[in-house]
Amino acid sequence: MSLTMTNPAIILPTKSIGTLLPTSPSNNQQKSPSSSSTMSFVTSSPEIFSKICEYLTPIDIFKLSRVCKQYRNFLCTPSSTTYQNIWRTSRMKFLTYPQLPPPQGMDEKNYIKILIYDKSCEFCGNSDPGSSRLYWEFRVRCCDKCLLKRTKTHEDLEKSAGIPVDVIDTLPCVWIRGGAFAVPVHRYYWIDNIKSTTKEYSLLKGKDRKNWLLKKKEQHKKYMAEVSQYYFEDQKQWNEMYKKQRNC
Ligand SMILES: [Zn+2]
Repeated sequence: MSLTMTNPAIILPTKSIGTLLPTSPSNNQQKSPSSSSTMSFVTSSPEIFSKICEYLTPIDIFKLSRVCKQYRNFLCTPSSTTYQNIWRTSRMKFLTYPQLPPPQGMDEKNYIKILIYDKSCEFCGNSDPGSSRLYWEFRVRCCDKCLLKRTKTHEDLEKSAGIPVDVIDTLPCVWIRGGAFAVPVHRYYWIDNIKSTTKEYSLLKGKDRKNWLLKKKEQHKKYMAEVSQYYFEDQKQWNEMYKKQRNC
């Protein structure tokens, strides 16, 4: 078994997926990956298929999910417990990072994807090194341009007067400087979050609004505490990589 170092902290065995799957038909009988034999294998033996996946790294499972529609359906259905277990088992077995479980609202596959497998902007696809970064507050990986397109600053929201300040303060935000050392620092809010929260608030009246705000403030505190844990783990991972590179 050979080893591929995609990240100093992550050692991925490159065992061929092909050796773990049913034998392919001979060349003159070559069938498409979506053939009935592939489908019946997945649907009639999901336990065996899941067992095979236990020997695959997350990267191998990504490759497998692209082989055909049946594999994709089996491996990429967020509501399926089997699907979640396959990705979780592979992550825990083959990756040293991330160790934290996926944050609320994110499934295992997307968690691994944005952290390890695909570091491009998930909106425009920009894959230039260092062009995009993870924003745990919004559960996205994106470039500066897409971030600016999909967010509003605290000042914008105050000027628009469409949303009370108390409500703004229940939304996750990122603090960003205008430039390397520029001031002031602005708070950016995700537009989709603004829309859904404003709608929720507008449907309430009087005392219900007050209770809703109290509940939202409490949830916000917990949400931001969770976000800090993910940044902390990222920082720890970065420090370890840096230390390893310096010792090389
Ligand atoms: Zn982008």
